[in-house]
Amino acid sequence: MRAVRFHLSSGELQVEEMPIPEPGPLDVLVKVDACGICLSDVHLIDRSIPAVIPDVTPGHETAGTIARKGAFVEGWNEGDRVVLAAGRTCMTCARCRAGRLEECLAPQIMGFMYDGAWAEYVLAPFYTLSAVPDNVPMEQAAIVADAVSTPFAALSDRAALRPGESVGLWGIGGLGTHAVQIARLLGAGLIVAVDPLESARKRALSLGADIAVDPATEDVSSARGSCLAHARSRCSVTSATGSSTSTICYRWFREGGWICRDRSATWCRSKGSQTVCAAYRRRKAIRFGSS
Ligand SMILES: [Zn+2]
Ligand SMILES: [Zn+2]
Repeated sequence: MRAVRFHLSSGELQVEEMPIPEPGPLDVLVKVDACGICLSDVHLIDRSIPAVIPDVTPGHETAGTIARKGAFVEGWNEGDRVVLAAGRTCMTCARCRAGRLEECLAPQIMGFMYDGAWAEYVLAPFYTLSAVPDNVPMEQAAIVADAVSTPFAALSDRAALRPGESVGLWGIGGLGTHAVQIARLLGAGLIVAVDPLESARKRALSLGADIAVDPATEDVSSARGSCLAHARSRCSVTSATGSSTSTICYRWFREGGWICRDRSATWCRSKGSQTVCAAYRRRKAIRFGSS
């Protein structure tokens, strides 16, 4: 099969012939119909995100059709249309052994820690599959794996956004675009979108944001005031690590409210502190007021 391979030693990305992988007993072999290009893929290639293994097939936003399945896989059949989770659990840590797979202590990211789907075929454990309805185009289903599910989890689960609550969304790119729409669907009150790009701000307004501000030139404190004037304020950050928009976001909310960040890191509120469970297994805690 053909696969796009990234080689850390040369920094090159090239199409190569690879053997079609053999599914293990709990795996399925998926014929890839569509795979997104995530900004984290770009960062892997430009080396701003460190590579985990020296040679890898990128791609973690994948939809396809089951071509073969392992001997112990039940409930799925060849020809089923599926979308793949963007990662898999380690199956060896204490939480995995306790059956709490969604709380795995060492999750593995597809396309970084094992081969992804910029290829004709890809392997996936059966428990990472979700069915794709016939009326959903595969190229739309593919981005559900990250660009849609990540902001959905940030808003509905981590931030537990409730109807009527205001929300600030920092960074209206690939994830933030969906965050605006998801926040509206979840019944958010005021939606404040923050992005330095005019095109992104216009897109946010067209998709349901109430206010779109430029963190570089506008008086963002008035937007913050509008946001915090509501009974409860929440914040979901989807922009890249260390960006100016993130920095402003942290400054805004250190006096109150709280930040939920779901991308390369996850922020959890706990007794007045925000714990950062960053990718690459770094951990630190940052205190944000008394919220
Ligand atoms: Zn991604
Ligand atoms: Zn685990």
